[in-house]
Amino acid sequence: MALMWNRTVDWDAGDWRRVAACRSTEPDLFFPVGTTGPAIEQIEAAKRVCRSCEAQEPCLDFALATNQESGVWGGTSEEERRKLRKAWLAARRSAGTSTSPVEPVRPATFER
Ligand code: SF4
Repeated sequence: MALMWNRTVDWDAGDWRRVAACRSTEPDLFFPVGTTGPAIEQIEAAKRVCRSCEAQEPCLDFALATNQESGVWGGTSEEERRKLRKAWLAARRSAGTSTSPVEPVRPATFER
């Protein structure tokens, strides 16, 4: 999967949490402990759910903009998002756009 992210965040764009595929899954699936051993299969299982999710794009936008460091969001692992966020921050700085952090929140799985 090629990782790219060059969209701007529209905070009012739709209510993506309502169509989140992870709403009907076990929340712990999206928050594996560690990144090795059994966590590898757990991350892949969470990503499979994300690939079927209508909200994948806005979810990833949200996770990057709000610096969600833990868990699987928008079909990406923690490490993948760290790389994407570096690119996002660099793009924002070069565009002269604010990079101020936004308070992290719980993912859709916890907002039932
Ligand atoms: S983490 Fe995001 S993309 Fe994955 S299922 Fe939940 S809402 Fe969809």
